Amino acid sequence: MLNIKCLGAAKIVTGSCHLVEADNKKFLIDCGMFQGPKKLVKKNYEDFLFNAKEIEFLILTHAHIDHSGLIPKLVKYGFEGTIYCSPPTGDLLPIMLEDSAHIQQMDTMHENRRRERQGLEPRDPLYEKEHAQKAIALIKKVDYENIIPINENISFSLHDAGHIIGSSMIELIIKDNNVEKNILFSGDIGQWNVPIIRNPFQVKKCDYLFVESTYGDRLHKERVENHLSREEILLDIIKKTTERGGKTLIPSFAIERTQEILYSINKMVKQGIFPDIKVYVDSPLAIRATEVFKKHTEVYDKEASELKENPFEFKNLVFTLTAEESMQINEEKEPSVIIAGSGMCNAGRIRHHLKHNLWKKETSVVFVGYQAEGTLGRYILEKADTVKMMGMKIKVNAEIHKINAFSSHADYSEIIQWLKNFEEKPKKAFIIHGEEKSAQSLYEKITEIGINAYIPSIGEELF
Ligand SMILES: [Zn+2]
Repeated sequence: MLNIKCLGAAKIVTGSCHLVEADNKKFLIDCGMFQGPKKLVKKNYEDFLFNAKEIEFLILTHAHIDHSGLIPKLVKYGFEGTIYCSPPTGDLLPIMLEDSAHIQQMDTMHENRRRERQGLEPRDPLYEKEHAQKAIALIKKVDYENIIPINENISFSLHDAGHIIGSSMIELIIKDNNVEKNILFSGDIGQWNVPIIRNPFQVKKCDYLFVESTYGDRLHKERVENHLSREEILLDIIKKTTERGGKTLIPSFAIERTQEILYSINKMVKQGIFPDIKVYVDSPLAIRATEVFKKHTEVYDKEASELKENPFEFKNLVFTLTAEESMQINEEKEPSVIIAGSGMCNAGRIRHHLKHNLWKKETSVVFVGYQAEGTLGRYILEKADTVKMMGMKIKVNAEIHKINAFSSHADYSEIIQWLKNFEEKPKKAFIIHGEEKSAQSLYEKITEIGINAYIPSIGEELF
């Protein structure tokens, strides 16, 4: 009996989690956190729709929190199985989970102060550092393109998904009543031809496909229309901001976006076309993630692996680890580039930089990644006149930019092309990991090329 239950990232982009039941075993594909609006974040505190003790193992597509963030909660509720993932994911996961546990503990401390004042009972954090550490001890790294047998009826292999370093598509091979079924979870699919990492793996066939649809209704336009590279667009914004004496703030995800931006700036510095200003990476998480990039050169693309020098070191690049160093940046008056987390501005040091600079018209804010509904980043991007943050109202006078081409997700044309290159069409494509509009749009496009498609809901059993 084969059964797959959708437990998250259905008609939304966060909380990725699928429960697979096969050959009397239960296992999970991802165990992600719900992020964004309060009503979604609340879901993280609900009981799992399964018994964590019965889950025998977990296969992880990549280290992003919306795919991995509830693993420590799974451990808290009794999970003791193996966590299979690629080697770079296995090195990123400890950084991500410990950071997440820290955030949970801090948030709960603040929340409990509020509850106390309201005469309410204090609440336990979602999980704590010890749960993250127990989870880390369960990691087993497996290389891409190796078939890993679980037993005689279940095996899997990982393929490079080109989304962030170590990101994987998961190919499950399950014998169900002596019939072999091949089920592919695309994970998050990256864009083609981006720096450092390789292109997404070209799958040739599968029986059933779970495909992401973050940009199921969009094209990364400027690549198509203006024939400008994303580096040229970024350079133009930074130059103009520098000329008018402003700072360029880049809210950035710690993994991949930050390193790709550094890689691009490094190239421009070497070419002598980048302004002579400081570039700050003001994110302890991004600094630690950069170390993982330096280590895993085996997954680099051709260009990056042929580099003689470390692409993450150049003149004027400053990594600020401590809070004091971070605050010092705001004392400086000269133009600079500040790359800081979080990518959607809902936490992290970027909020301090926004507070200091968002109201100045000489500032630029450059979004380089997806901004989920309900996040501060989304409000700023949708041109809010003022935003409420850190207990105050702040006028948005800065220039707001979005460079879609920096996205770590394929747009629909790339996903459709990837599907067209299959030698055999899947019997069915389940469209997940996209807000309703995007999922619906990708549904139509996939149906147009003759593939039977379906958009599942959370809690739905699919086989
Ligand atoms: Zn991701």
